[in-house]
Amino acid sequence: MQLRTRFAPSPTGLLHVGNAFSALYCADWADKHAAELLLRIEDIDHTRCRPDLAEAMLEDLSWLGLRWSGPVRRQGQQLHEYRQAIEKLRAADLIYPCFCTRRTIQQELQRMGSAPHADDPGHIYPGICRQQGRDEQQQRMQHQPFAWRLHTEKALSSLTEPLCWHDDSGSACPVRIDHDIVIGRKDIDFSYHLAVVVDDAAQGMTHVIRGEDLRESTGIHCLLQRLLDYPQPVYIHHPLLRDKNGERLAKRNQATTLRSLREMGVSPKKLRAYLQGCRDLTWPFEQQDLNNIRLLLAGD
Ligand code: GLU
Repeated sequence: MQLRTRFAPSPTGLLHVGNAFSALYCADWADKHAAELLLRIEDIDHTRCRPDLAEAMLEDLSWLGLRWSGPVRRQGQQLHEYRQAIEKLRAADLIYPCFCTRRTIQQELQRMGSAPHADDPGHIYPGICRQQGRDEQQQRMQHQPFAWRLHTEKALSSLTEPLCWHDDSGSACPVRIDHDIVIGRKDIDFSYHLAVVVDDAAQGMTHVIRGEDLRESTGIHCLLQRLLDYPQPVYIHHPLLRDKNGERLAKRNQATTLRSLREMGVSPKKLRAYLQGCRDLTWPFEQQDLNNIRLLLAGD
């Protein structure tokens, strides 16, 4: 069987060394396993992604020496596929329209005496719209913006086998999902979770290799794969490159963008060697003085 993996950046900023680390991790895995490496631009969130950044990403990845197979898939061009997937979940009565704002969710959580999630108050959903009758739903859908949420309890109980994902050692990792996930956003119609699952199936991924920050999402993706009758890829989560305070790199940190390193004359070879070296550190990574990366990589 042809093995296939992908690198799937979102063009919300310029690529930084953390993204380059991830891209090379995927590429080296592909080389080692005679697998195809595909590239996907995850631009479904048009409120944050920019076409010029997508083009800059392709250029920076080529400069880095990344080679990929076939055409680049862009999420913005696959909307009909995401629509079909939503329709399938809707026909199976596994999703419901949710009219809540962050504020109504927060108020309900407070009323219930539950503390809102620090990073994302919308993460815990108290189920306000879950029990709405069909007539009320139809009526509100005509004049109120809404998101599609998965009825997670119903979805999980429709499965005939326990839900788990597998890593490359073959170990099964059980999945626990305890909230109604947003499948279609109010503002952009589709959520990251839905788009990624549709894309991985459409592109025939056998292995999904990505940062450990997405480990929690993997369970959600496996559930959607089951509900949509898609095959389940193997998942590999790599450690993230962190700075010396233990923070992961952010795209807003200009000092570590590939573009700025390139402009100061750093060679792709040197950057690749540096990132390869990071991989040989004890895991989880010893933290890097990435603020000094410009000095580290300067000169030949
Ligand atoms: N687009 C995501 C990111 O840039 C990666 C999603 C994935 O690999 O599944 O973080």
